[in-house]
Amino acid sequence: MDYVNALGYSVYFFIFLMGLSLGSFLNSWTWRHWENIRITSGRSICIHCHRQLAWYENIPLFSYVFLGGKCRTCGKKIPWFYTLVEIFMAVAFVFIAWYRLNIGHFTPLLFTRDIFFITILMIIFVFDGLHKVILPHIVWLGAIVGLALNLLFFHFSFSSIFFGALAAGGFFLLQFLVSKGRWIGGGDVRMGVMMGVWVGWPAVLVALLAAYVLGGVVGAALLIAGKKKIQSQIPFGTFLSVGTVIAIYYGDEIVRWYISFIK
Ligand SMILES: [Zn+2]
Repeated sequence: MDYVNALGYSVYFFIFLMGLSLGSFLNSWTWRHWENIRITSGRSICIHCHRQLAWYENIPLFSYVFLGGKCRTCGKKIPWFYTLVEIFMAVAFVFIAWYRLNIGHFTPLLFTRDIFFITILMIIFVFDGLHKVILPHIVWLGAIVGLALNLLFFHFSFSSIFFGALAAGGFFLLQFLVSKGRWIGGGDVRMGVMMGVWVGWPAVLVALLAAYVLGGVVGAALLIAGKKKIQSQIPFGTFLSVGTVIAIYYGDEIVRWYISFIK
């Protein structure tokens, strides 16, 4: 609370802008990563006509609105997915700051950990959403850094991390083996391990449950709307990402609530 008093509520506005900027950088990075272009190779370009963008065409969110969602030269549509990523990132940043300042406790290291986690999840979200792959090296990076942080600084017990990773990773591995990789891919198995390492046992159950409930609701909504084709293409990694966010912030609380409920 002292941080808010000291800095005023304008802090949220700057955090929103920081989120937009990081979202924009992630878009640029993921696109170049996918297209195998080095991030250092000059200015941003239109993904259709490859013209270099002027600075005012490259402002997160505002340029999209200002340009009407189209390239000034070739007139082709700028994918709305990229703008969605920028908005998600900005909202996630504001949420993390709000949560840490008002509900959880705030330390610079904890805030940095949260930003790191949300960045990893957003990369998974973008790649799974656009290309239907969960990048293995991003998931392992997240798992290893998360393991070190949780053990060294955030007082997670080793058994909580171990059983969390075993439960979620094992749950997906079982489905992977039974279905011979038809229901879910190896990326989901790896991601299960990462989720377990991040939130531990039993909070990882909340992440899985939230992902399935969310996937079910969105799937049913698309079915009712008669968009079965889109429904069959929805990547599960995006739901796992959202489920993980819920478990990071509300996992322990939901578990406590559930235990008090069954007693
Ligand atoms: Zn263009």
